[in-house]
Amino acid sequence: MSGPTKVAQSAWAVIKRLWPEARFMGIMGDAKHQARESDHNSGRALDVGGPRDVMVDVAKAFEGHNYVKYIIFEHWIWHRPWQRTAAGYVRGGPRWDRYVKDDHFDHVHISFHRAAADKEITTS
Ligand SMILES: [Zn+2]
Repeated sequence: MSGPTKVAQSAWAVIKRLWPEARFMGIMGDAKHQARESDHNSGRALDVGGPRDVMVDVAKAFEGHNYVKYIIFEHWIWHRPWQRTAAGYVRGGPRWDRYVKDDHFDHVHISFHRAAADKEITTS
């Protein structure tokens, strides 16, 4: 297990600068996360709390970036789901889908791609 990645740490620095009311809710997983597969365990996920309008703005600011793997907020997930085509499975989207597996009402979850672990985020 490694520590927080540069991409997650620098993303938090940008968020805190742009939305001072945002609340840091962790990069590394707690015991609950460590019991299952989670990008938190490898330091590639960031949880951001705070006022709801701030969480919405953060989710919107990070959707669409190619270094972002997925975002979960409330009962929605932004991702690039695998789609079956004549040529095989390809990444579709990106798009928001309903996601009711987990409650994410007190924070936005942002997962970053492994290939982007060392990326430094300087703007949203
Ligand atoms: Zn999370």
